[in-house]
Amino acid sequence: MFSYRHAFHAGNHADVLKHLTLLATVRHLQQKDSAIHFTDTHGGAGLYRLDSDMARQSGEAAAGLLQLRDLSPDALPAALGDYLRQVAQFNPDGAWRVYPGSPLLLMSLLRPAAGDRLRVFEMHPSDQKHLRGHIAQHPAQRAVQMVLGDGFEALRSQLPPPATAGNSRRACVLIDPSYEVKTDYARVVQSVDDAVRRFPTGTYLIWYPIIGRAEAHDLPRKLRLIAQRAQRPWLHATLSVGRADPHARGLNASGMVVINPPYTLASQLKECLPTLVTHLGQGLGQGHSVEAGGG
Ligand code: SAM
Repeated sequence: MFSYRHAFHAGNHADVLKHLTLLATVRHLQQKDSAIHFTDTHGGAGLYRLDSDMARQSGEAAAGLLQLRDLSPDALPAALGDYLRQVAQFNPDGAWRVYPGSPLLLMSLLRPAAGDRLRVFEMHPSDQKHLRGHIAQHPAQRAVQMVLGDGFEALRSQLPPPATAGNSRRACVLIDPSYEVKTDYARVVQSVDDAVRRFPTGTYLIWYPIIGRAEAHDLPRKLRLIAQRAQRPWLHATLSVGRADPHARGLNASGMVVINPPYTLASQLKECLPTLVTHLGQGLGQGHSVEAGGG
């Protein structure tokens, strides 16, 4: 049923936007000591070879993350430098052959002693097998539970998150479907609506592709409405790398919607996105935007 494999896309411009936003958000949330319950509804395989046949065939990482490899993190906007250092940690020999997907990126940030926990869901049998293997080799494995199953369905069971020792409840949820089936757009809206009703103070990060399809166009507006109805702050950021050739195909833009974003996130992304456009931009239609409101 599923033909989408994230290995073709790992480290592309969309992953850079998504993981930069995720990392900056988690860093902010972790400024407080209390435990965070993380949920990754669509985990993927967890770790990707940038020199695999799939990555070479698509060339997406080469046009994305690998364009940033030779930049000095210290000379970049802080959140972007932090992201590149985090990716570099997965590549201790300095050759960027490996890219961490969201579950492994989150695992590298978990503070098990503080009580941080991660639940990851993945439906593709072969990706879930790879993911399970990568989790099993990670020092934070005991703080992680991986489930073969439908992340949209499962999100209900994760919220509200369990109370921790100090009776605090904190949750951070990444929703990153492949949108391989058109119904994913409606399921995102339905899941986020339900999640915000169950746990209004959670931080919800939703990635979506910017493509010529009504459902994709409407998604950020619908998510913003959910936040506004619940009187919660929201942020919407987009990155378009444009096209060198107007007839070229493939994804060239995507967006992130964050409900209950850290108050610092908008200014951090406003600092980082112009640098990404400079280094990843292909020409026609390249650009970025950051909007925030509510609260
Ligand atoms: N979040 C990952 C990352 O950033 O590294 C990438 C995830 S990829 C875009 C989407 C994944 O969702 C695919 O691996 C696909 O097999 C999986 N998937 C598709 N439908 C799903 C569902 N209903 N529940 C859980 N996983 C699903």
